[in-house]
Amino acid sequence: MCMTRMSELPSEKPVTIEPIKAFPVIKDLVTNVSWNFQLKKKIKPFKPRPPDAPDGTWRMQQKDIDRVQEFRKCIECFLCQDVCHVLRDHQMHDKFIGPRFLIHVAALEMHPLDTEDRIEELRDAYGIGYCNITKCCTKVCPESIEITDNGIIPLKERVVDQYYDPLGWLWGRLKKKSEQRIENRKG
Ligand code: SF4
Ligand code: SF4
Repeated sequence: MCMTRMSELPSEKPVTIEPIKAFPVIKDLVTNVSWNFQLKKKIKPFKPRPPDAPDGTWRMQQKDIDRVQEFRKCIECFLCQDVCHVLRDHQMHDKFIGPRFLIHVAALEMHPLDTEDRIEELRDAYGIGYCNITKCCTKVCPESIEITDNGIIPLKERVVDQYYDPLGWLWGRLKKKSEQRIENRKG
């Protein structure tokens, strides 16, 4: 897949077009990216808290919604997956879900209604520790999603909070549950 405008390419030099390298080539420029879709099915889905109001609706702060809206702009072009050295060079598809799915997890984890916990998976099955924040993924994203600063780094902080600051994590969970109870009573 190419995201470069022809007008930006130097017309006096040959242009080399190659298939993406993080996934197996089927033919010519076509690659098999089905691994991505299989992987997405394994990520714990959205699990909203009970409705806040008797009519089955929820109340949320606009700023909380704005935060996850950025991640939902993803068009699944997989350019970020292709430039990530963990997938492209080291082929660690069995240990690391890649930047596209880290922001998918961020969109779920940071959603104000979501009650699921994916922190253990982030550390283990999703392999967030393999990301060394080189930001190559952010640079190529055609939707200008701040993959690393707004998605991966806050997720890494949550993993650190849970596994290296247990008191902080316990306090955060109790606070979140207490806030949810207050919100439910208001509804
Ligand atoms: S910042 Fe992390 S996810 Fe993005 S390309 Fe670099 S190693 Fe991969
Ligand atoms: S590069 Fe951006 S739009 Fe493309 S898959 Fe990655 S996050 Fe989504």
